[in-house]
Amino acid sequence: MLPQIQYQLKFQTFYNRISNGGIAHPLGELFPQAATIWSHIATTYSPQRIEFLGTLLIQLLTFWLPSLCYMSLDKLTPTFSQRHKIQPASKQPSRAEITLCIKVVAKNQLLSTILHLSLLQATSYFGSATSYRITPILPSIAEIARDIVISLLLREALFYYVHRLLHVPFLYVRIHKMHHRFTAPIALAAQFAHPIEQIFANALPISLPPQLLRSHVVTFWLYLGYELVNTATVHSGYDFFGNRAKSHDLHHEKFNLYYGSMGLLDWVHGTDRLVKRRTE
Ligand SMILES: [Zn+2]
Ligand SMILES: [Zn+2]
Repeated sequence: MLPQIQYQLKFQTFYNRISNGGIAHPLGELFPQAATIWSHIATTYSPQRIEFLGTLLIQLLTFWLPSLCYMSLDKLTPTFSQRHKIQPASKQPSRAEITLCIKVVAKNQLLSTILHLSLLQATSYFGSATSYRITPILPSIAEIARDIVISLLLREALFYYVHRLLHVPFLYVRIHKMHHRFTAPIALAAQFAHPIEQIFANALPISLPPQLLRSHVVTFWLYLGYELVNTATVHSGYDFFGNRAKSHDLHHEKFNLYYGSMGLLDWVHGTDRLVKRRTE
């Protein structure tokens, strides 16, 4: 067979896979059991209850659980932990600081939960039952991918500029200094923050983009799960996943570089390199 015809056939097969059994079709066609369970949930419980309890479950599974796993490595495997810590043992937080961190993060979790409940109340007041779309049919992979990519980019922009604003001396002293208490961060310290920072830098930049896109609630959960595992990892203080934590760890250590999450806007604004030593 001529190479040209071979390529044509390969392209045709690839195109058919995409359009018939793949990304253009609902996720449920690829995972029928998941689709049945989801359809049962969506038709049995109220949309508000699904959105609220599902989001809480994702927060517990993708933020609290990985954070506590990262933090228990010190006790469970001290030698392995020491080998992978980015900063030296002398800079690690004390037991009292870790206890304080757990208390503050629990309060912030409560704040985010109250904020979510209020938002659900507000959306139902303005005529919509929930902040995200809840239908018995799961979204297509193409829709999930599109919404997650746009949400990640919007979150990068919102977080980068809010974070840079928080480094303006007036706001830094009053709000953001608290988050920088951990110069050698630990996973839970991702949400060790002033309540204003918790709302405007942590909660809204993540939750707003998929609301604007009117994403399906399952898409929102997948994206939220990724963001929460990511934020716990970049604050973990460990060099895991190709040293993913390196940039944000450096931000905690040196203060005036790496303000973003993806590195995209740090590259655009030239904040991906150290210009001067700590001034704050
Ligand atoms: Zn900062
Ligand atoms: Zn941080």
